[in-house]
Amino acid sequence: MKNIIFIAPPAAGKGTQSELLVKKYGFAHVSTGDLLRNEVAEQTELGREIEEKMQQGILISNEIVSALLKKRLSQKDNEAGYILDGYPRKYEQCKMLENIMQELNMKVDVVLYLDMDEETAMHRALGRITCPKCGRGFNRYEEATKPKTENICDDCNVELTSRSDDNEESFKIRFNQYVNEVEPILNYYKELGILKIIDNSGTPESTFAKIEEVI
Ligand code: AMP
Repeated sequence: MKNIIFIAPPAAGKGTQSELLVKKYGFAHVSTGDLLRNEVAEQTELGREIEEKMQQGILISNEIVSALLKKRLSQKDNEAGYILDGYPRKYEQCKMLENIMQELNMKVDVVLYLDMDEETAMHRALGRITCPKCGRGFNRYEEATKPKTENICDDCNVELTSRSDDNEESFKIRFNQYVNEVEPILNYYKELGILKIIDNSGTPESTFAKIEEVI
């Protein structure tokens, strides 16, 4: 079992790379954003509490996100290992994750850092569209990940949707938050000797090849 963390600004390609890793190696993709969006979609008490904040791109409390993550990882339903996407997003969450992992007798093996400048990431965020049925991600502005028919999933033939927080205002809040929080997180994993910096300047395929070299 290998557990991987992705650290990257919003819309830098974590979702796409996770999809590729899941397909090829059978990892389970655990996105805290998805866990929270599920709560909102199911209109649970928690979902109603966090909906507005999420739409605005504001971070949800460490306690709420960590509890959801712990519950998900406790299922221990995957032999190949887990990809954590969107967590830790704050320095305190690195410590919280360490505790969660210890309690579950698991560990983080490698931390992949994908960088991307704000302008490119925003362009990608605004073009991002996802299949509501299979979860496959596309981008209407990128040749490599454009759907074959405009706004329709290549696999399921259903209409693609965009995230309510992928608008310019919310993106800027999320990007600034990332810039303010990321350095201590990177230092934490650098000191543990498990941080790998991945060149993310090429196509999704070239980034994936670089990830495969280090995992
Ligand atoms: P994402 O899908 O990773 O872009 O996350 C979408 C939204 O979920 C974020 O803008 C936050 O509101 C919330 N969120 C996701 N992960 C975390 C986290 N680790 N800590 C706090 N809030 C989070």
